[in-house]
Amino acid sequence: MGSQESLELLRNSVREFAEKVVKPVARRIDEENSMPEDVIRQAASMGYFALRVPTEYGGPGLSTLESVVTVEELARASGALAIMATVSGTMVAYPLVHYASDDIKERYLSRLAKGSIGAFALSEPCCGSDAAAITTRAVKEGDEYVINGRKTWITNSPYADFFLVAARTGTPEQRHRGVSLFVVDKGSCVEVSKLDMMGYRGSGTSEVLFKDCRVPAENMVGELNGGFKIVMDALNEGRVVTAATALGLAEAAFEDALAYSKQRESMGVSIAEHQMVQYMLAEMKVRVEAIRLLIYEAARRVDERDPEYPMWSSMAKLATASWGVDVARMAVQVEGGFGYSKESLVERIYRDVKMVEIGDGTNEVQRLVIARSLLGRIRAPRPH
Ligand SMILES: Cc1cc2nc3c(=O)[nH]c(=O)nc-3n(C[C@H](O)[C@H](O)[C@H](O)COP(=O)(O)OP(=O)(O)OC[C@H]3O[C@@H](n4cnc5c(N)ncnc54)[C@H](O)[C@@H]3O)c2cc1C
Repeated sequence: MGSQESLELLRNSVREFAEKVVKPVARRIDEENSMPEDVIRQAASMGYFALRVPTEYGGPGLSTLESVVTVEELARASGALAIMATVSGTMVAYPLVHYASDDIKERYLSRLAKGSIGAFALSEPCCGSDAAAITTRAVKEGDEYVINGRKTWITNSPYADFFLVAARTGTPEQRHRGVSLFVVDKGSCVEVSKLDMMGYRGSGTSEVLFKDCRVPAENMVGELNGGFKIVMDALNEGRVVTAATALGLAEAAFEDALAYSKQRESMGVSIAEHQMVQYMLAEMKVRVEAIRLLIYEAARRVDERDPEYPMWSSMAKLATASWGVDVARMAVQVEGGFGYSKESLVERIYRDVKMVEIGDGTNEVQRLVIARSLLGRIRAPRPH
């Protein structure tokens, strides 16, 4: 965990990258629903797809708080790149760091550090919130597992070099106790079909078909039928980083609306002079600062392995998603007809930030986690 000074150094370096490399092409990324190769290459060389990969494997070895600051700054320029970094750098890297064998760590963490991208394949057409019902199957044949099934809404898929796949190794009745995790290289057995989503366009959200994918048994991460616990741990940690995408987007929307309100005139004065616009500016500012404090506090608790960190991570995600959408909605309102047009920045942000109310567990699922934590039914996993 870095000092305040090193956090600010990190923030400045990511902001410089985001302003120079990402911001100029952010609109094109959204319009074309595609991340330019040179942006991917440069982001990879900065280690953004390997946030949690320890330095011994060549990665930046960032803490959760440092990952949050990195993703927040990327999101100020592009939500799509920020969510790509979140998925590869935390949702994929974190389980490998904490649960994979030395052999997998050596092979895949080093690849992430060298610029490969990972995708996290849990959700299926049948089931997102009810992830314990997944139907993708992994069947043992000799020294290999054969994986068959269809995943959907999988971020990073077109750009990914490998997938972390949750598959059923037990019976459907075993639900979460019959799920294992595998690393699957992208090869001819993997079919990726990009989806046309409302927001985070360019992050490669796709349907992914695994057709008779054969992986060595050693590619299992963790124990047989022990994959679900790892997925939950990764989500508990990853949620606070996903929340940081909404924080960066909310900051950008607020700043844009504030600047617009000072130069747009109505009835002989700038609209910032109208009390009802001031009301919205004040409400936006409070929400941005409140979610920043909550996310940073939650990230610190994750890093310190506070026994209540799953609840804090969910609280941060729920608040940031809801208030991030509020901020974006008010930013569109402040910018009026312009805000509602494709010419504006806040129109894209409004579409992007809505995703955070759905991905990595919906707002409703976060409320379940918070309530179950309050009732003593969810605790942090034992330190690994
Ligand atoms: C842009 C984008 C990127 C994504 N990236 C990934 C990724 O990289 N990897 C991945 O695995 N998944 C990814 N997802 C999938 C995401 O995690 C799921 O969409 C999410 O978990 C919700 O699942 P669902 O879409 O099946 O909704 P459903 O589970 O069908 O839920 C529909 C509605 O019912 C509510 N609901 C469901 N169950 C309950 C309950 N028990 N109590 C109360 N309300 C309930 C939900 O809150 C929601 O409002 C992504 C999604 C999006 C939109």
